[in-house]
Amino acid sequence: MRPIANMVNHETNELFFDNLEIPAENLIGDEGQGFRYLLDGLNAERALIAAECIGDGYWFIERASRYASERIVFDRPIGLNQGVQFPIAEAFIEVEAANLMRFRACALFDARQPCGAQANMAKYLAAKASWQAANVCLQTHGGFGFASEYDIERKFRETRLYQVAPISTNLIFSYVAEHLLGLPRSF
Ligand SMILES: Cc1cc2nc3c(=O)[nH]c(=O)nc-3n(C[C@H](O)[C@H](O)[C@H](O)COP(=O)(O)OP(=O)(O)OC[C@H]3O[C@@H](n4cnc5c(N)ncnc54)[C@H](O)[C@@H]3O)c2cc1C
Repeated sequence: MRPIANMVNHETNELFFDNLEIPAENLIGDEGQGFRYLLDGLNAERALIAAECIGDGYWFIERASRYASERIVFDRPIGLNQGVQFPIAEAFIEVEAANLMRFRACALFDARQPCGAQANMAKYLAAKASWQAANVCLQTHGGFGFASEYDIERKFRETRLYQVAPISTNLIFSYVAEHLLGLPRSF
């Protein structure tokens, strides 16, 4: 095991398996079906990560709205300006929309129905929405967005992860193109 120091507060390690023998009685399900079982578990993880991004998104929007109402520049709160409040409203709409797809994926998963498409799309929409909300929140805070005491810069870094892990955005596009739209597999 090799720890990987990284930009977010996430214990991350690279694992190596050499000549590992696993007793036959440890077999789960049918031999050769492991990758399919794994994918089923990954759908739940995608819905879970979508929920995490949506939580991040609401956090950024709440913090941006609060700061925009409290910060006074030229004798008035910055949130009085449409140039400040509209991006926050837009980010909120995007998070709400992602949340609908998240609940759609979870409802299908709970009903034991296939949910790969919805779980992937929910993760894509939520990661994008949380990143948009993060940018808006940082911008709303101006210079203080970079000050560690506000936690914005930390959350900003953390939520960026979800466009890469646990599945990168391109791989979601690839899944949708191939499995939903019938386009040829690109790799
Ligand atoms: C903090 C952190 C924690 C993690 N935790 C876990 C964990 O707990 N468990 C785990 O299994 N993994 C974990 N990962 C790994 C993570 O799942 C992968 O980093 C992620 O899936 C991307 O794979 P990769 O790094 O191999 O990128 P690569 O596959 O090397 O891709 C690099 C870039 O090229 C693009 N790309 C690659 N192939 C194609 C293609 N065919 N078409 C178009 N674009 C392509 C990708 O979209 C990406 O932008 C973690 C990663 C991080 C950063």
